[in-house]
Amino acid sequence: MRNTALAVVDMLYDFIDGSLACQNADNAVQETLKYIDKQTKGQGGEEHEILDTFPILFVRDHHPADHSSFKENGGIWPSHCVAGTKGGEIHSDLAPYANEELTFDKGCDKAVEQYSGFDAMNEAEQSLGEILELLDTTDIYVCGIATEYCIKNTCMDLLKAGFKVHLLKNCLGYVDYEGHLKALEEMAAAGVSIE
Ligand SMILES: [Zn+2]
Repeated sequence: MRNTALAVVDMLYDFIDGSLACQNADNAVQETLKYIDKQTKGQGGEEHEILDTFPILFVRDHHPADHSSFKENGGIWPSHCVAGTKGGEIHSDLAPYANEELTFDKGCDKAVEQYSGFDAMNEAEQSLGEILELLDTTDIYVCGIATEYCIKNTCMDLLKAGFKVHLLKNCLGYVDYEGHLKALEEMAAAGVSIE
């Protein structure tokens, strides 16, 4: 049986209009909302019932202020998504769909880059991969920011773990358009379905 879930990766203010604002990010948020509406429309019932049949998992870059990926600490990125700051929050249009159990943080260890959301942890210290297993997910839909980094790494890990991975190409933000296209090609070649 086909059992689907959606993973929304790093749709956080610093990647949308903050210190590491990405191309197409605002548009990607709006397209994601449309996608969620389409999946949940006509199902009726309370919102929590809808989310039982279509779980939406959120991944958050969630760094300590002295994270090694920041330029001032020898990394390649401006400071971003520091835990407890506005820049690290999920976009307010999407936040109503997020709950604690299905929100997973990554990059919490200052020494580890962690682009992939696969091993990101919720408050109960369950990883995204573990939760997808518990939900009996077969098909995982992925959207978010940025295609070349966290999206690509997350999709590759999901594939390795045996999930059928569907990438929502209109729901992606990216650092660089050429890099975005190249990453899409790499993912398609690896077996990700670009939709
Ligand atoms: Zn980061």
